[in-house]
Amino acid sequence: MIAKINQLLEEVAALKAANAEELEALRIKYLSKKGAINDLMADFRNVAAEQKKEVGMRLNELKTKAQEKINALKEQFDNQDNGQDDLDLTRSAYPVELGTRHPLSIVRNEIIDIFARLGFNIAEGPEIEDDWHVFSALNFAEDHPARDMQDTFFIESHPDVLLRTHTSSVQSRVMEVSQPPIRIICPGRVYRNEAISYRAHCFFHQVEALYVDKDVSFTDLKQVLLLFAQEMFGADTKIRLRPSYFPFTEPSAEMDISCNICGGKGCPFCKHTGWVEILGCGMVDPNVLDANGIDSKVYSGYALGMGIERITNLKYQVKDLRMFSENDTRFLKEFEAAY
Ligand SMILES: [Zn+2]
Repeated sequence: MIAKINQLLEEVAALKAANAEELEALRIKYLSKKGAINDLMADFRNVAAEQKKEVGMRLNELKTKAQEKINALKEQFDNQDNGQDDLDLTRSAYPVELGTRHPLSIVRNEIIDIFARLGFNIAEGPEIEDDWHVFSALNFAEDHPARDMQDTFFIESHPDVLLRTHTSSVQSRVMEVSQPPIRIICPGRVYRNEAISYRAHCFFHQVEALYVDKDVSFTDLKQVLLLFAQEMFGADTKIRLRPSYFPFTEPSAEMDISCNICGGKGCPFCKHTGWVEILGCGMVDPNVLDANGIDSKVYSGYALGMGIERITNLKYQVKDLRMFSENDTRFLKEFEAAY
């Protein structure tokens, strides 16, 4: 009896069926009431009592294996059927829910559009940078606080490698391989070692612009700033420049625009001054031009940079910076109509 079971086990393991009819024939041969396995079941009562346990187990194993094999073969045909007979080309498609563009992308694209109309080309660079492109080539002193671990993420095993703290590193990368006229806009993500709160994050986004050519003056810069502010925030927008300091520009300035929330009358957003700061700018320091292989005696240039989050806040009054990276679709849906 054991020998017979073993023989059937081998047969079952090797079963093949080319179509549903062959499969049905196999099912009848092995699993039907008059099938081979039921025949053995009928003989089971004649098995000697001391062998009943072992034979019973083997018999059950055979029955399970046969059922599994037939099922597996059946599934194979069912799947084939789904590909053929059940295909209904007239059935309506599953509804696809459309996503919305992220507010930072909307604003970034708007900024890029404005500068593209002025003839600026997009330039991009790596987020993982080296000290030279982020600091040294941009006239940062050896002991500048930005080089401190408190402000910048460094790679522990390579103190020369860091996450860029500004997109100015792209300016350096473009200048070192090209000669003026250079007119680029660099959008990208930057990283700072900051505690995360509603008003600060360890990463945010910047757009910087750089223009280097012969006879570029502060007047050119001011005109571009005014045009940008009015395109971005409306034709009535006023700008004002305050002297400031950046290592890579001289002279440097920060630009305020008339508060577009209160129209300049004063509100909590502008701290009742009627003005809000939106960007930093200045004439490229001659040291920066020379460090990047551009002759500062022949060429001059201006640079400006702004945080995309800051501009987005002004346009849409997003009060908590963290909302930008929480991927809450309810928040993102609010910008559906914005583009
Ligand atoms: Zn205001």
